[in-house]
Amino acid sequence: MDLNAVEGVVRPGCRAELPARQDGDAFLAGGTWVFSEPQPHLRRLIDLAALGWPAIETHVNGISIAATCTLAELEAMAANAAFPAAALIQQCCRALWGSFKIWNMATVGGNLCLALPAAPMAALAVALDGVCTVWRADGTDESVPARNFILGPGKTCLAPGDVLRRVAIGREALEGRFAFRQVSLTEEGRSAALVIGRSVGGGVKLTITAATRRPVQCGFTTPPDTERVVRDIDRTVDAAGGWFDDCHGAPDWRRHMTHRLAGEICRELAAR
Ligand SMILES: Cc1cc2nc3c(=O)[nH]c(=O)nc-3n(C[C@H](O)[C@H](O)[C@H](O)COP(=O)(O)OP(=O)(O)OC[C@H]3O[C@@H](n4cnc5c(N)ncnc54)[C@H](O)[C@@H]3O)c2cc1C
Repeated sequence: MDLNAVEGVVRPGCRAELPARQDGDAFLAGGTWVFSEPQPHLRRLIDLAALGWPAIETHVNGISIAATCTLAELEAMAANAAFPAAALIQQCCRALWGSFKIWNMATVGGNLCLALPAAPMAALAVALDGVCTVWRADGTDESVPARNFILGPGKTCLAPGDVLRRVAIGREALEGRFAFRQVSLTEEGRSAALVIGRSVGGGVKLTITAATRRPVQCGFTTPPDTERVVRDIDRTVDAAGGWFDDCHGAPDWRRHMTHRLAGEICRELAAR
């Protein structure tokens, strides 16, 4: 969609070239959301792709995913990776139902910054204990655990002018054992409940998104029974603002499906 109110596009080549923030600014990543609906308040786009960040960097301690890494690039990396979490990365990429055009443009950072409850990159980053690097507008850097990055639907810890630079994932998380479940109201609809389980010691850590207003986590040091799973999830979700409600699923159905998916995950991880 044409953004008729936009008067200029800035393409910074490095951090020092990021312009001082003005009213009507928006960062542009893949643009799959920015260009998907009218933005009459926008006057200027700041194109993050011009910064030229490498999509994925591998270190001895893990990987660093640039905010501008596309879902297609991330999925392609995972398809050729040997670490156990590669399958989870692919499942999360594919949890965003979109055409190849969306997949090739949508970025990891844009997905986190848009902060839709159904953001699969948020689910992935939280489940893998990711750490976000934020370039604050005042020139400082801040490390924010991915579980604290999204505060609610459309709301993040970013202040105006802040940029999400990268998400770092540690080696230990990449070597973890995971189980993934996702459900939508319609066959190729947006996620209504997405649950990821990770084996931790003799227990399990559950990450719940899409059904909730923000990502939530429940930890169990021993394999939990169904009653405990239901009780702890309900308590944690209530404390995090409750079950999400929109056209992709009613709260009571999302709650029911989350309990069911979490139970399946706990049984799957216990049986492996
Ligand atoms: C058909 C279709 C299906 C979709 N399905 C889903 C879905 O299932 N789940 C879902 O979560 N989304 C979905 N979306 C929404 C959107 O496409 C994705 O969330 C996508 O990942 C956004 O990434 P992007 O790079 O295109 O972001 P953009 O559209 O470029 O930006 C999105 C927002 O984030 C800000 N932003 C982007 N990057 C940064 C950064 N590094 N630092 C600071 N701010 C930044 C932008 O200013 C803007 O406000 C869908 C969209 C379409 C068109």
